[in-house]
Amino acid sequence: MSEPADTAPRTDIVAVLSDGSKVKVRLPRMRACNEKDGKGKICAGHLKRWYFFGEAVKEKYGPDAEIYRCEHCRTLYLPNPGETPRSGTLAY
Ligand SMILES: [Zn+2]
Repeated sequence: MSEPADTAPRTDIVAVLSDGSKVKVRLPRMRACNEKDGKGKICAGHLKRWYFFGEAVKEKYGPDAEIYRCEHCRTLYLPNPGETPRSGTLAY
């Protein structure tokens, strides 16, 4: 009853990988998952840098991709393009 209009897209998923994983893009300084479940409840799971992704991620984003994953619902997140990558492996 709190959402007045339902015109906005329900999802900001940018890709679905070949293994079925949903991929979204983080908002600036985003630390918690904003994926909603079937009842419209926000997941709010913690986003953690994920290094152990499999072939589905590699084939789409490359073996050195900066990927975050929600600990709760396992939605994958790409870094926000406006943010400086924290990874020190490529750029100093
Ligand atoms: Zn989540």
